Amino acid sequence: RIVFVNGEFVPYEEARISIMDRGFLFGDGIYEVAAVLGGRLVDNDAHLARLVRCLGEIGIENPYPVAEWAQLEEELVKRNGLVEGLVYMEVTRGVWERDFPFPPADVKPTVVMFTQEKSITGSKLAETGAKVITVPDLRWKRRDIKSVALLAQVLAKQEAAKAGVSEAWMVEDGYVTEGGSSTAFIITKDGRIVTRPLSNAILPGITRQAVMHLAEEQGLTLEERLFTVEEALDAAEAFYTSASAFVMPTVEMDGKPIADGKPGPLTRRLRALYLDMAQATNSG
Ligand code: PMP
Repeated sequence: RIVFVNGEFVPYEEARISIMDRGFLFGDGIYEVAAVLGGRLVDNDAHLARLVRCLGEIGIENPYPVAEWAQLEEELVKRNGLVEGLVYMEVTRGVWERDFPFPPADVKPTVVMFTQEKSITGSKLAETGAKVITVPDLRWKRRDIKSVALLAQVLAKQEAAKAGVSEAWMVEDGYVTEGGSSTAFIITKDGRIVTRPLSNAILPGITRQAVMHLAEEQGLTLEERLFTVEEALDAAEAFYTSASAFVMPTVEMDGKPIADGKPGPLTRRLRALYLDMAQATNSG
């Protein structure tokens, strides 16, 4: 297994990061995850645009132009012979004696990339549908930044794992914000696809954006607004989206079935459309 660390491709066993890395000490960094299908990156321009925006938001200088980022990712995918799975990228504010304010400007960011094999298109869970629990959203107020400080999500997803379900939907003031590592959607009984509008309260999901675009093309009704846990429980369908799950039907919440407890027809259609799009992007 080959990984990328600070400008070099090295075997995983040889990769080293300092204990003084600010990502390790402070969670002072951001990350990005993009899917790989048929050996090609899915919707990668959008992922890289978010990476660049997040770096800017926290004042880390972007270490590579976008075209070079893409080349490095592709090289990593190739070196690992990855056909289907994920590319993980992380940039931290670098290595310096532990001190809260930013280190001197000449301290270089730490850059790490690795791949993970994962069957996304053949997901068994997507056939049966995923179960979720709701948990309080304990995060900070800049959730639009893809920060590596993920303690709230670790705790939320551990609760989900303990409950034997796949995802935790986080709730604030009675409204669902998003999944621990996904965007939450419901479909109302009159066929409206509802998801929370973009703000500092959620991460702008790349899959969310693509799915909304596909829904629009199909003439489906989209509604960007807040929705409550009660509304989700009463929905005709529900699903969540992410680069690692694509469109995942959600069939149970807090132990209660959503509608008939099976993946809904519109959700299945959106998943199929997304898969087509991802595969078409690839061959293009
Ligand atoms: N929200 C959160 C909190 C996430 O961690 C993720 C996964 N990165 C998403 C939403 C989905 O984003 P994307 O579709 O870009 O993977």
